[in-house]
Amino acid sequence: MKIAIIGTGYVGLVTGVCLAEIGHEVTCIDTNLEKVDQLKKGISPIYEPGLEELMEKNRAAGRLEFTNNSIIGLKDQEVIYIAVGTPQSEDGAADLTYVFNAARNIGENITRNVVVVTKSTVPIGTNAKVRQLVMSNLQDNVCAEVVSNPEFLREGSAIHDSFNGDRIVIGTDNQEAGDIVEEINKPFGLPILRTSLHSAEMIKYASNAFLATKISFINEIANLSEKTNAHIEEVAKGIGMDSRIGNKFLNAGIGYGGSCFPKDTQALVKISEDCNHDFHLLKSVITINENQKTLLVRKAKERFGTLRGMKVALLGLAFKPDTDDMREAASISVAHELVEEGAEVIGYDPIAADNAKKVLPEEVLYADQIEEAIKQADVVFILTEWKEIVEKTLILSTLFMNEPIIFDGRNCYTNEDLYNLEVEYISVGRENLS
Ligand code: NAD
Repeated sequence: MKIAIIGTGYVGLVTGVCLAEIGHEVTCIDTNLEKVDQLKKGISPIYEPGLEELMEKNRAAGRLEFTNNSIIGLKDQEVIYIAVGTPQSEDGAADLTYVFNAARNIGENITRNVVVVTKSTVPIGTNAKVRQLVMSNLQDNVCAEVVSNPEFLREGSAIHDSFNGDRIVIGTDNQEAGDIVEEINKPFGLPILRTSLHSAEMIKYASNAFLATKISFINEIANLSEKTNAHIEEVAKGIGMDSRIGNKFLNAGIGYGGSCFPKDTQALVKISEDCNHDFHLLKSVITINENQKTLLVRKAKERFGTLRGMKVALLGLAFKPDTDDMREAASISVAHELVEEGAEVIGYDPIAADNAKKVLPEEVLYADQIEEAIKQADVVFILTEWKEIVEKTLILSTLFMNEPIIFDGRNCYTNEDLYNLEVEYISVGRENLS
């Protein structure tokens, strides 16, 4: 099938590459010239394991092209995916400017009947507006139908998730358009759920809100475990063995971040407000997460009295391992609080440091190597559980710090890991291990 993808970010690029991999002819369109130039040279503008290799393979096979020219990119396509950003606007709602621009663009440039597939996460009712916009901008006597096909991939394992996801949701009020999208996706061999347009739009928000709720719930139980001498890992294991609860997403820590959960939970609160529904639960989930991000700073202040003049190494700056994405990373809140407390902050991340420099306070210094960060530090904070950070922090702290002290926001170590080591170790939801 001939497919165009509008937007080559984390979702659009991965979608384009994977659709090419299963045999479709894909043209990826982006307004960002720099990105398109890089892509044409075979360089992925984002860090995502396995992406560049698969991109190259499909470019070489002639199934994958990149352009910033939507007249060329949209010409003669049978199916057009919208995968542009839907960032949070000031009032919490999803900003649909990019989606609606893409829809107008489609209307102005299509030369045959098309199916428009929305991958972007959009509020309930948006796809109907997308169709209206496409139809009201048509130049030729052609027609467009819309399908909501929300994306569930996780950054850091996006390629794996595209081929091994739990389900593909295809929501539409037009049977034929839904059949076409089902046919496109068949080679993935994943369970397909057909729904109405509105249900598909809601499924995406409800999934993210539920996962965020699970995280805030376990973090509240962790905070309570500290006060009651329970051990959060034992508690999580015990509740996770109940198949009604499940054992995933029960890792206590310093909360969720990234490009989706924070903005999608806020957007769902706004969607609720707009229909006079007070979503108490979700509002609490958001507040709990905001507090949780700076938990380590509070713990360190409790331990030292003041952080003024202390050198703090922040290990891991990306919002999670295996990505360079800094959007809503806990490191942003932590670095700001530490700078406000008068601490000197040294940041280290194996991949995301360049992106971090754009969003962390300018007072933050950066280390190119983890050793360099730990050598300078009075105290170490683990914020992101990159493999390298988990493997090296304990040993390097004992080697290079006079009085090693680690505040671990991701509970990377067990009692056995710490056995016989002279390290003060403070984590989340567990008695101080040693
Ligand atoms: P992104 O910001 O990484 O990428 C968006 C891209 O769209 C950018 O490259 C931008 O230049 C391009 N763009 C914007 N307007 C354009 C236009 N009119 N024509 C062509 N290109 C245009 O965003 P993302 O992280 O890929 O997210 C895209 C959507 O998918 C969002 O709605 C997001 O909520 C959703 N989503 C993201 C993830 C994730 O893990 N990142 C997962 C599931 C769903």
